[in-house]
Amino acid sequence: MTPSATTEAYEVYAIRYATRSARRRDNFIGGDPHDADMPLDYYVWLVRNAQRTVVIDMGFTAEVAQRRKRDYLRTPREGLALLGVDSTTVRDVIVTHLHYDHVGSYTDFPAARFHIQDDEMAYATGRYMRHSRFNHGYEVEDVVGMVRMVFKDRVAFNTGSAEVAPGLSVYRIGGHTRGLQCVRVFTRRGWVVLASDASHFYEHMEQTRCFPTVFNVGEMVDGYEILKRLADSMDHIIPGHDPLVMKRYPAPSAQLEGIAVCLDVAPHG
Ligand SMILES: [Zn+2]
Repeated sequence: MTPSATTEAYEVYAIRYATRSARRRDNFIGGDPHDADMPLDYYVWLVRNAQRTVVIDMGFTAEVAQRRKRDYLRTPREGLALLGVDSTTVRDVIVTHLHYDHVGSYTDFPAARFHIQDDEMAYATGRYMRHSRFNHGYEVEDVVGMVRMVFKDRVAFNTGSAEVAPGLSVYRIGGHTRGLQCVRVFTRRGWVVLASDASHFYEHMEQTRCFPTVFNVGEMVDGYEILKRLADSMDHIIPGHDPLVMKRYPAPSAQLEGIAVCLDVAPHG
């Protein structure tokens, strides 16, 4: 399926705003036999063409970074500004899920409508949040804040798959959280899929292994098939937290080296 001839391909960027160290055994259910570092990067993504600018996820704040002991590099708002985007004017933000590292700086987007899966809002406000096993990835103030956004009619609810704009769609995957959604975007190299936490690292989807923060393992594993079906190739799928993304894709300019990469061109190596 290709979008109509009038749909302009989107530019797509990953913007890195934080990082943290971890060991390989931390990142897989069942651990890992190799005793080695496997750090996580934290990203927001920017999708734009001549018609529109859409931000995907909003990262966390400096305060939460300090409390959760993450290495904070810049606010997502600052990262977006480096690409010429003023977060206060952004009209549409796709929230892949409501975990703290994907929604936390929502107050920097005062003009935005937030696109969320029905299942994610129900999950983040429902019975499973009684358990630290499931609530530890959420900041209750973020969840309460998003409920306030519902009352201001600033949340667009999706059930399953939905087109946000021509050439830009979301698909519910679940797994990691009950309402996790991925994003499919039409670019000059074809259909790119921003997996977000449907695959934290390349290794998860490539080897059918699972990240330990999970609501439904079955949906997580099925999700790898959904990603592959939606993308033009494995090289068109962008994992949510893998530092390899910064290595495989080029920076948009020398000044943005280590800060942002272009995902609408083929990866190298
Ligand atoms: Zn995440």
